[in-house]
Parts: sequence; C-alpha cells; structure tokens
Amino acid sequence: MKILLSDSFDAGLPGRLAKYGEVTDDKEQLPSADVVLIRSKTKCTKEFIDEAPQLKLIIRGGVGLDNVDREHAKAKGIKVYNTPKASSVAVAEMAFAMMIALPNQLITAHNSTVAGQWLKKELKRSELLNKTLGIIGCGRIGLEMAKRAKAFGMTVYVYDVVPVRSEYIDGQKELVELLPICDYFSLHLPLTSETSGLINQERIAQMKNGACLINTGRGKTVVEDDIIAALHSGKLGGYATDVFFSEPPENKALLSAPNTLFAPHLGASTRENLLRISDEVVLLIDQFAKGELK
Ligand code: NAD
Repeated sequence: MKILLSDSFDAGLPGRLAKYGEVTDDKEQLPSADVVLIRSKTKCTKEFIDEAPQLKLIIRGGVGLDNVDREHAKAKGIKVYNTPKASSVAVAEMAFAMMIALPNQLITAHNSTVAGQWLKKELKRSELLNKTLGIIGCGRIGLEMAKRAKAFGMTVYVYDVVPVRSEYIDGQKELVELLPICDYFSLHLPLTSETSGLINQERIAQMKNGACLINTGRGKTVVEDDIIAALHSGKLGGYATDVFFSEPPENKALLSAPNTLFAPHLGASTRENLLRISDEVVLLIDQFAKGELK
C-alpha cells in the first residue's frame, strides 16, 4: 500500500509505517495513494478526493473533521478516521496558558520590557482565584480545562447540548444563563452549522463587562468582527485564540485589536501529543492492513 503523509507529523512516523508499504510525503503521488494522512492544513475537498482514485482511507491526526468532505468520501467508499483522544491535554494546557497570560498581561509586560520600558506601576494583573469560568462545549478538552480551573480555585460552569457530569464542574447551564455570570469563557466547540458564529454581538452583549474569551476550538464559532468591536469598546476584557476564521489570519483589524493574544493553531502541537497521534495512526494503519478496520 502507498501511504501519503500530506501534513507534518512526528518525525518518527514514516519509519514506524514503513513495514506496511511505501511511505511518501510527495503530494504529486496523491493519484496512487491508498491512504492519506492529514492534520489541519490539507483540505480533503471533493476535488482532492477525486484526484485520488486508489484512496481507501483518510486519517486525520487530530480531533475536528471539518477539513474533510466526509459525505463525498463515504460516497466513494473511503473510510475516514481521526485520533480524537490524543489531543485533549495538549489543547487544554494551551487554553489554560492563554487564560493565565491574558489577566497577567504577560505579552504587554514582555514586549514593553524588551522595548526598554519599566511599566511596574502601570501594569495591573488580575488573579483567577474565585473567578468564574464558563466552558462552552464541554467534551474531552473542556473537561481537562475544568480540572485545571478547579485547581486554581475557580467556579466552573458549562454549557453543552448533552448532559455533562464531572466532579470538576459546579453546574451545567443554558447559554443564556451562563453568559452573564462568567469572568472567563473557554470555547471547545466543534464547527457545525449550529456552532458557526455562535459567539456574536448579541451573545457578547449578554456577557459581564470585561469578560475574557479564550478560543481553542474553531475560529468560525465566533464572529471576529463582533469580537473586534467588543475589544475596542471594552465590553470584552480580552480575547486569546489559536484558531481563526481563515488560517493564517487575514483579518488585520483583529490582529491589531487591544487585549489580545494569538497563536498559530498550536493547540495540539506538543511533542508529547505528536507522539500520541502517531501511536493512534499506527494502530489504525495496522488494523487497516489486517482488514480489521470497520
Ligand atoms: P468533544 O467531541 O469531546 O467535545 C465537544 C463538545 O461540544 C461535546 O460535548 C458536544 O456535545 C459539544 N457540542 C457540540 N455542539 C454543540 C452546540 N451546538 N452547543 C454546545 N455544545 C456543543 O471534542 P473535543 O475533543 O473536546 O474537541 C473540541 C473541539 O476542539 C474540536 O471539535 C476541535 O474543533 C477543537 N480542537 C482544536 C485544536 C487546536 O489545535 N486548537 C485541537 C484539537 C481540537
């Protein structure tokens, strides 16, 4: 079998897959690939899939499958798998790092110090202790976030379309109840027709003045222009995200808005997680090679 690595994975993965067939990262070989491995960069559109008549299996190393045209793959008999469990800790740690960095003004503190300023009196930090976190979409990653927030002495409420039970949450609420009571929100939603643009002007208006928003879910679950307006008016106290409407981000007004913290979709990109993703990919390929993949 020919396995095409269309995005970057842990450097050890090609060697681990060699026993199953030919492994290549040459995208010109898509037409003869039996298996394509992707992360978030490659978009498995209808056109991409149609260029690969031999294709039998797509594996997305990561959680969301919004970069795969699953209906078209299914219609062509191509199996689509992801590695949903591997990334939870990596993404939760990223979201938490952002929730610490924003109120501690770490980016401004660093940049101003490097620029020769000494803003000791000007910069005021704020603590997470006794603050309320609202987790919007509380599955695997959201629960890891909740666990960390409880360790910091926060009150944790969640909004989700399915019941969520955990010793680390203080209650589940409707979105309309959650919005006015939280100091921080962390978004961990998949991108669907229901979640697209969920955090918009109307919902931001229902939040506490100065609430901060962390987004390590998907960029399109927020309306970026509404976030920008709320950052300028002070309605939102901060916005930290590693996901954008378009990636790399083209919205220059967002990049220059106040009280922001940005990263280039790094949530899953820990060394440890890349190894966990490789482990899951090898397992799937092994099952596929043995004809055991359903
Ligand atoms: P998950 O499926 O375990 O959790 C998602 C939760 O969202 C579920 O509990 C689900 O019921 C809930 N949900 C779905 N639709 C909803 C709606 N309309 N309203 C409220 N809740 C809703 O997934 P996960 O592993 O926790 O990952 C969550 C998301 O994080 C992924 O879908 C992906 O978009 C994103 N992600 C980002 C990165 C990154 O690098 N930043 C990495 C991995 C995953």
